[in-house]
Amino acid sequence: MKIHALTTGAVRLKQAFLHPRSGPRRQLDLFLPSPWSEPMPIHCWAIEHEGRLLLVDTGEVATARNISFARFEVAREQELPSAMAAAGLSLEDVSAVVLTHHHGDHVDGLSHVRAPVRIHDAELQFLGGAFPRVMRRVLRQPLPDGFAPEPFALDGGPFGAFARSRALSDDGRVVAVETPGHTPGHVSVICVDDSGRHVMLAGDATDSLEQLKARRADAIGPDPKVHVATLDTILAHCAQHPTVYLPSHDPDSAARLAGAVTVS
Ligand SMILES: [Zn+2]
Ligand SMILES: [Zn+2]
Repeated sequence: MKIHALTTGAVRLKQAFLHPRSGPRRQLDLFLPSPWSEPMPIHCWAIEHEGRLLLVDTGEVATARNISFARFEVAREQELPSAMAAAGLSLEDVSAVVLTHHHGDHVDGLSHVRAPVRIHDAELQFLGGAFPRVMRRVLRQPLPDGFAPEPFALDGGPFGAFARSRALSDDGRVVAVETPGHTPGHVSVICVDDSGRHVMLAGDATDSLEQLKARRADAIGPDPKVHVATLDTILAHCAQHPTVYLPSHDPDSAARLAGAVTVS
């Protein structure tokens, strides 16, 4: 098995997003002035396994509009095709795409992909609801043209500390697990690498390893309690299995993947 970190540009986030206050200010502060972070990577991931090439998320595109709490720094030559070429991979070889959740910086690159696309059924249901629809209009963040992923159920039983999962490879070494919080249907993908370590492609389960260890809910999840419960489950999983934890926007994720650095 080979796992590649692909980088489709960067995003700067408000400190109010990365370190939200609790209570009503958690979301209100996103719309008020706040210092900006350094550029953080927008990663997606490619897994070569069983003669197939699976993408986990597809990254951002250059036409993405900034929003009140996120500024995108993506050039056309940083979009998915170039990010894959930089890793020695070709879009033509993609067998399938799995999405961690429906946000633009994870799905906009689908405009480059012709392979089948899948998303957790709970996320598909959520993104069709009234609130996400209004937010996409207010924030001018439409779903990409032709966005029509196939839903899948997490009906594969427990995996490590996670109550619900779904195998994504024939041998069960690539598994989607439920990590709700950032969005209600968010999933992460765990790959059991050739050394038996768990490489967890965590999407936006958190923005960083630091946020996981701090057990801090983010600013935009609908229910902070659900988010914190997921962080506790991830930490329990990391305690059970040596786990390389890779959030999409953590500046240290690519180095942790390269060095197989597990959560301690
Ligand atoms: Zn997100
Ligand atoms: Zn994201």
